[in-house]
Amino acid sequence: MTKNSKLSPETIAAQAAGQIDEKTGSVIAPIHMASTYARDENYDLREGLIYARYGSPTCGQAETVLQKLEEAEGTYLFNSGLSAAAAVLESLPAQSHIVVPENMYFGVLIWMQRQADKGYLTLDTYTPADLNSIKTAIRDDTALVWIETPTNPTWAVTDIAEVSKIAKAKGALVLVDSTTAPPCTTKPLALGADYAFHSATKYLNGHSDVLAGALSTNLIDDRWEDIGFVRKLQGTALPGFEAWLVMRGMRTLYVRWNKACENAMAIAKHFNNHPLVERVQYPGLPNDPGHAVAKKQMTGGFSGMMSILVKGDEEVARNVARNTELFLPATSLGGVESLIEHRYTIEGPDYGVAENLLRLSVGIEDPDDLIADLEQAITKACG
Ligand SMILES: *Cc1c(COP(=O)(O)O)cnc(C)c1O
Repeated sequence: MTKNSKLSPETIAAQAAGQIDEKTGSVIAPIHMASTYARDENYDLREGLIYARYGSPTCGQAETVLQKLEEAEGTYLFNSGLSAAAAVLESLPAQSHIVVPENMYFGVLIWMQRQADKGYLTLDTYTPADLNSIKTAIRDDTALVWIETPTNPTWAVTDIAEVSKIAKAKGALVLVDSTTAPPCTTKPLALGADYAFHSATKYLNGHSDVLAGALSTNLIDDRWEDIGFVRKLQGTALPGFEAWLVMRGMRTLYVRWNKACENAMAIAKHFNNHPLVERVQYPGLPNDPGHAVAKKQMTGGFSGMMSILVKGDEEVARNVARNTELFLPATSLGGVESLIEHRYTIEGPDYGVAENLLRLSVGIEDPDDLIADLEQAITKACG
């Protein structure tokens, strides 16, 4: 093995791309917290650093790790997933036409609808995973097609390669919100997408202790520069401490991911065809409608995210989430601890979420403990 041979992404992640502190030998890079940087004796900037709103060395180091994992030409980290999404939208010309899934991450959808209501952009929706519906929604003047796959909270799988072909034929950009399919399993850029987006709050950090967003691309052009400019002006670059935590989190990304996928598969299999369960939505199950495409584009596991639709109404389903003792009744996903959420309580009747759906973010605990916890919670609520 020489320094120049191509390293596995697992090795890159575990060693944070080999970024140790040159001066002290500290095997963990230090955190840069400064808000401003002194010029050198020639009154020049050192390493281009000027002011924290423009980014910091620690943010840059975390970006280097993710950029390598995504095999991208450029990566920006933001102080939230939403601010990364907002920067992309801000970089588009006024009144651009955007095509988005009917169901997707709630916060991003609300943000887009708000922008559309004010006349800043126009929106059309498609049914996730349905290529014909996507074809119909894309117009000659469509600027951006937004994919989220697997999609919250039904985990429908949209074919990134096929949509990229369709969009490209119309000159539209493709962004993939790949939050629930991190680079361990899906590399959207390699499949033809223009932007890979993550809420790094979720799997990339993985410890439920940071809010962060990430955007990667191979299109280093004026738009990419403009997105960086928006980030700079709005002060949405990921600050030093948070960037350091994300870099810490990414070191264990692959082991956390593999374990979460394994646990989720065990839970999905257990509750598939369970007498108190109407349906399990998990692309890892061979009977799931998204399985064939998932097998093709999720080459490193089917994620720790799934939904269980229990036999019962809104009240019964909410009670399942109240009865669990290990699954914490909290929103968010991608952490080491398992979470359960009754999405209907959050979204209400307007967004098509089933009232009996429970969204699970499966963590890295013992799978038998998790199954036993869900069993008792479901039996108590539905039995
Ligand atoms: C959490 C999430 C977001 C938003 O990211 P924040 O870090 O909460 O701002 C966007 N998309 C998906 C799929 C998410 O799960």
